[in-house]
Order: sequence, then structure tokens, then C-alpha cells
Amino acid sequence: MDNYAYLLIDKQTNISAVLDPSEAEPVIKECEKQNIKPVYILNTHHHFDHIEGNKEIKDKYNSKIVVSINDLNIIPSADIGLEEGDIFNLGNSKAHIISAEGHAVGHILWYFPSEKNLFTGDILFNLAVGGLFEGTAEQMWHSLQKIKKLPDDVLFYPGHEYAVYGLNSLYGPTGERYAAKVKERLSQGIPTAPFTLGEEKICNPYLSCSNYQEFYEKIIS
Ligand code: ZN
Ligand code: FE
Repeated sequence: MDNYAYLLIDKQTNISAVLDPSEAEPVIKECEKQNIKPVYILNTHHHFDHIEGNKEIKDKYNSKIVVSINDLNIIPSADIGLEEGDIFNLGNSKAHIISAEGHAVGHILWYFPSEKNLFTGDILFNLAVGGLFEGTAEQMWHSLQKIKKLPDDVLFYPGHEYAVYGLNSLYGPTGERYAAKVKERLSQGIPTAPFTLGEEKICNPYLSCSNYQEFYEKIIS
């Protein structure tokens, strides 16, 4: 319904990957349209709505499933486990693995610093953050602080389309610009993502908190 899967293509080598395929069919359709054979399936975490398409895509393309080291024995047929500090080569594009607890144990972010792309799974959404299903507010806060340290011009790609629920949290000129952009994209039937981290640091009510107490009160309310 509102999950995003992403196709990643390294332009120099044409090596490609699918990130968080919640279902296989639309992903395979797009791969066929673009004549892509995904060498890898990348996952941010083990929740079913991010991995349900893994098996069918792997069976079709013989892709390798790359996951958090925590999920190596949890996600069916996973091949490679990565942890914080690891660098994953997608052709000549390099993903830095950032661990981000708070929503699911072992959740990782896929960060491509040269391309300035960040895949945030269920940690950071437009104007929202993930639920504390397998973690604490403190862990989520810590994860958000890691994201906050990344450059403002990084584009981030969330696991779900949730922006519309956050529109009433926006105020001021930056907030109004943000809201206009969300509405414009949704009215065109295109994803809200990507936004820059710079915009999100100002407009996301959780990411913009300046201290833990303020964040805690917001997230438990
Ligand atoms: Zn999840
Ligand atoms: Fe999810």
C-alpha cells in the first residue's frame, strides 16, 4: 500500500540492486521494462513488508541477499551480513553501512556518500520516524543523531510514504515550502521522496528536536 522499494543502478558498471522489495511483482515488472537483472537484494531490516519480495526475485535473477549481520539468520535465504563501518560495493558505488536501532533490532541504513543518497528504511520518513517496535526512544534518538550529522545536501529515501500525515506539523516559511512540495508531488501521483536531509532537519518534528527530553515527550505522546 505505502511501501517503497528502490532500484539502484551503478551507472559505470550497470550492476544493480533492489532495496527492500515488499513484493516481487511490481519490482520484476520494472526490471523487465528497464532490462535490469538485479545482482543484489539489499534489506534495511527484517520486517515482512521490506523482505516479502526477496525470494521470488532471488529465484528469478539468482540475486544475492545482503542484510544486517543481525538478520543473517532471520531473513530467509540471506547470503551476506554487514555491520556498522562495513562498505558494500555496488559496482563502483560504495555504500557505507550505518547501524540504526530503535525500530527493529539490527536495522541498518544504506549510505552512498559520493552519490549523496541515503536509504533510511523505517528509521526516518518524511515528517515522521519509525515506531518503537523492537527498541527504545533512546536508541531511536541515537539513530537520528547519526543521520543529523550527515551533510544537508544528501537526498534520503524512506521505506514508506507517510508525508501526508505530517503536514499539520509544518509551520513557518520553510515548513510552508515543504508542505507545498509534498502536496504538489502527491497531486502528480509521484512519491514525496526524495527530500534533502537539510530540509528534513528543519521540518521533521522528531529530527528537529534539539534535546532528548523534547524528543522523548514527542515520541511517547
Ligand atoms: Zn519495519
Ligand atoms: Fe516498514
